[in-house]
Amino acid sequence: MTQLQAALNYFNAHQSEFMQRYLSFLRIPSVSTDANRRTDMSQACDFLAAYLNRLGINEVRRFETPLHPILYAWHPSRITNAPTLLVYGHYDVQPADPLDEWSSDPFEPVQHGEYLYARGAADMKGGIMAILSALESALAGGDLGVNIKLLFEGEEEIGSPSLEDFIRENTELLACDMILNPDAIMMGETMPTLVYGLRGLLYFELRVDGPKADLHSGVFGGNVANPAHVLAELIAKLHHPDGSVAVPGFYDNVLHLSEDDRRQINAPGAIDETLLNNSGVAQLFGEPEFTALERMGARPTLDVNGLYSGFIGEGAKTIIPAYAKAKISCRLVPYQDPDEVFDKIQSYLEGLLPPHARMALSKIGTGLPYLAQDAPGAQNLVQAFEDTWKKPAVLKREGGSAPVTTLMQQKLGVKTLLTGFILPDSAVHSPNERQHLPTWSRGTQALIRFFLSF
Ligand SMILES: [Zn+2]
Repeated sequence: MTQLQAALNYFNAHQSEFMQRYLSFLRIPSVSTDANRRTDMSQACDFLAAYLNRLGINEVRRFETPLHPILYAWHPSRITNAPTLLVYGHYDVQPADPLDEWSSDPFEPVQHGEYLYARGAADMKGGIMAILSALESALAGGDLGVNIKLLFEGEEEIGSPSLEDFIRENTELLACDMILNPDAIMMGETMPTLVYGLRGLLYFELRVDGPKADLHSGVFGGNVANPAHVLAELIAKLHHPDGSVAVPGFYDNVLHLSEDDRRQINAPGAIDETLLNNSGVAQLFGEPEFTALERMGARPTLDVNGLYSGFIGEGAKTIIPAYAKAKISCRLVPYQDPDEVFDKIQSYLEGLLPPHARMALSKIGTGLPYLAQDAPGAQNLVQAFEDTWKKPAVLKREGGSAPVTTLMQQKLGVKTLLTGFILPDSAVHSPNERQHLPTWSRGTQALIRFFLSF
């Protein structure tokens, strides 16, 4: 019996134990943003440490940070000069609110048909349990032939504030040849996906100020400019009618798509129907000369994420608001620079601002776009997918951002294999989050093959 066969047999023979552990992990309400959940966060970290210790992992270390602990583990191969694989995961989850939209308790997992429902079932306690179940099974087959390092943080859902310092202070500890992060959404049940491109992010707040305080609209209306109107006018000028961004120079450094790029991006086939179904809108809207897949992964965007001004309570209050605020974000693509884009937006808006209003832009966060077509280990992973699903793997450019991925590349100089076993309809970050269990199982088997492929 080959080592791979032994490992796959082990996985099949221990399905129910793996599932029980997955359920126990989901029952820990590790909501990183909630100050009342610090004990649960600590417990989730210790749960993983205990699991790894039980596996006989060579070294398991918990690092305290100003916020939530980071778990690091290391298990060397007996083979000298074996390559080193760093596997990343996050054990924190999004808050479960709004609770009344859940059909069951978000922290008491329930199975309906092929789906497991719980907060974190998909993002990414499912991914972490796939990693650990695969690691346990692979180790049951013998030496892996690859040095494994594990890095589990508890702050991904709040922007990983402690991770950057941790990586900077531990570059030696984290040194590796490849990084695997199974926290992405796959294209579909039969489309194992390797994400090779990610969009960057620029997040800022736009504030327009008018009078020094909210004014009586009967006394001042007609004589004082309303900051809510000014903000609306500014926002309206950020786009052309066709949906493209109107800020001069916004597209300057956008990587041009070659015919080859377009063929690869569009290989999975049109996704318009899926987007319509998943979003519930009547019609898709975006730059007309690009397909939905191109607009999702290879074109930059600018979106208002929130608007606030004046009176929004029940009933009526006749005022001219003192100020109006908008939260705005841009998804960026190679080779746009978030800071440069911010400056362009700022000078464009300053030029549009009427003299009767004041304006302030404040940057909230940035992340660089990312492209990693030929990351080390990519071939092994693609092969593991094809052996498991018996289908060609999909290489995809993702519409979202994964600051962790760019952080690792900057600090460790290693590109990440970003993948995942989360189906598009998994309600990630939403009520009734769910994981498709057959896909989780296939994903775990693919990871077993990947771990044993070196
Ligand atoms: Zn995640």
